Amino acid sequence: MEWVVCPLFSGSKGNSSFFATQDTRILVDAGVTMQQMKQGLEAIGADFSEIHAILVTHEHIDHIKALGPIARKYGIPIYATPKTWQAIRLQGRSGEFPIRTVIEFDPDRAFLIRGIRVVPFSTSHDAAQPTGFAFDNGRRKVGIMTDTGYATSGAKEALFGAHTVILESNHDPELLRANPRYPEQLKVRIAGRRGHLSNADSAAFLSDLVRGGTCQVALAHLSQENNTPELAYDTAAQGLLEIGAVPGQDLNLVIARQEGPVGLLGV
Ligand SMILES: [Zn+2]
Ligand SMILES: [Zn+2]
Repeated sequence: MEWVVCPLFSGSKGNSSFFATQDTRILVDAGVTMQQMKQGLEAIGADFSEIHAILVTHEHIDHIKALGPIARKYGIPIYATPKTWQAIRLQGRSGEFPIRTVIEFDPDRAFLIRGIRVVPFSTSHDAAQPTGFAFDNGRRKVGIMTDTGYATSGAKEALFGAHTVILESNHDPELLRANPRYPEQLKVRIAGRRGHLSNADSAAFLSDLVRGGTCQVALAHLSQENNTPELAYDTAAQGLLEIGAVPGQDLNLVIARQEGPVGLLGV
């Protein structure tokens, strides 16, 4: 097996995903408590002691909650763009980071982690310098894109040809519009160009990915208020059927969960 990919936690209450080859284990984001992270890793037979790097997509709390505690307890190198680091520090909620754990990367330039080529790409979100990632071990590519108002050209380029992708499918626009508990301003933010990806926009991008050879997808960062797993799945499946791809047959389509890992996606 080339890769194991697993969304450990996914949704507005916290996000973290696991990407591993035989030799290298990477987390993207650490947005639940350290204890929850530990349990999530244990559930898939992994452990903090064997994580080589944590990559941060952006500074929102649902992506960085456990970052400070993990850095101080385990000393794992944490990669973020310069502006994301700055925003994390400005928030002042994560405490000090040991110097050896802080690594900055250029969002426009690929870099290596233990032989894995990491290709960051800009996403469109109301954060300082938000990014997604593609990972390539030289034989297979995998990737993640969440927290973006639309699929940027960088995302399309980086994720094209990826075997497995964790892909945001945040909300159903009708449910969002009709939600009486959300103030108008928040609705505009979520649905905006620098907000979150709707089910339909996610489905459209998914179809592009599948045309490019993607055969495994976890729909992620589902809103608990403005979406349901069924709506997200059905919207994606509908889009796929339109290009002649049958979920469960031509590709493996799963829904990431807030509560814990969805299982391991082997590549
Ligand atoms: Zn965010
Ligand atoms: Zn988020």
